[in-house]
Amino acid sequence: MAARRKARLAVWKFASCDGCQLSLLDCEDELLALAGELEISYFLEVSRAAVRGPYDLSLVEGSITTPADAERILRVRRASRRLVTIGACATAGGIQALRNFADVDEFRAAVYARPEYIEALATSTPISRHVAVDFELQGCPINKVQLVEVIRAFARGHRPRIPAYSVCVECKRRGAVCVMVARGTPCLGPVTHAGCGALCPACDRGCYGCYGPMESPNTASLGAGWRRLGATDADLRRAFRGINAGAEAFRKAGEAHES
Ligand code: SF4
Ligand code: SF4
Repeated sequence: MAARRKARLAVWKFASCDGCQLSLLDCEDELLALAGELEISYFLEVSRAAVRGPYDLSLVEGSITTPADAERILRVRRASRRLVTIGACATAGGIQALRNFADVDEFRAAVYARPEYIEALATSTPISRHVAVDFELQGCPINKVQLVEVIRAFARGHRPRIPAYSVCVECKRRGAVCVMVARGTPCLGPVTHAGCGALCPACDRGCYGCYGPMESPNTASLGAGWRRLGATDADLRRAFRGINAGAEAFRKAGEAHES
């Protein structure tokens, strides 16, 4: 019987801090276990070898912030049978999407000595705004167990089993005390996608929303809950304008608290 061809994996970087690629590197043992069915064909952060496409699965980290990258992602899409975005930058525009609420020219002038040499778009947008995406893996950075599940699922031809519930479920599962109920500390957990294992509530802090909106977030109800704890419109706006400020549900929730 002919041996089954290995799935060809490519990893691409756009505007990002590389943290999600590092999460992939952190999967050493798990990737070794998949070595029989997966070939890493293109991953410039770790290898000088770059095998030409097409690729069976492309993992894309980062957002679109320059005209050149808006072109490049089209080529990546054409070379990829399946394309999965990884991390808050790729799925929501990342922390750099804060420019979407301000004037990018002002930022450019404040940061660079010669801003005229910097070519940047007025907004930072998720990859799905530019090309079709087969799956979005949220988080900043992504959870390595969830990442391995995504790679394994696409290599084997089925949908990844990633829970769409909120951080509150993870919080209860690990037996953490609810900081909202017990201490009156505002927490984004009820509207945030699971994946971090309720890291901050377990350390007695409110959730910052690093994993972006859960499947059906009730941000209005959460806002009312925060108000009962004394939060102002400015507090709520700031909370939703974090790493996932560009995610649709959080963007709208932030706008709802514009003064
Ligand atoms: S999602 Fe977070 S960890 Fe991943 S590349 Fe963006 S900023 Fe870095
Ligand atoms: S601490 Fe936050 S994440 Fe945990 S149960 Fe309470 S509201 Fe939900």
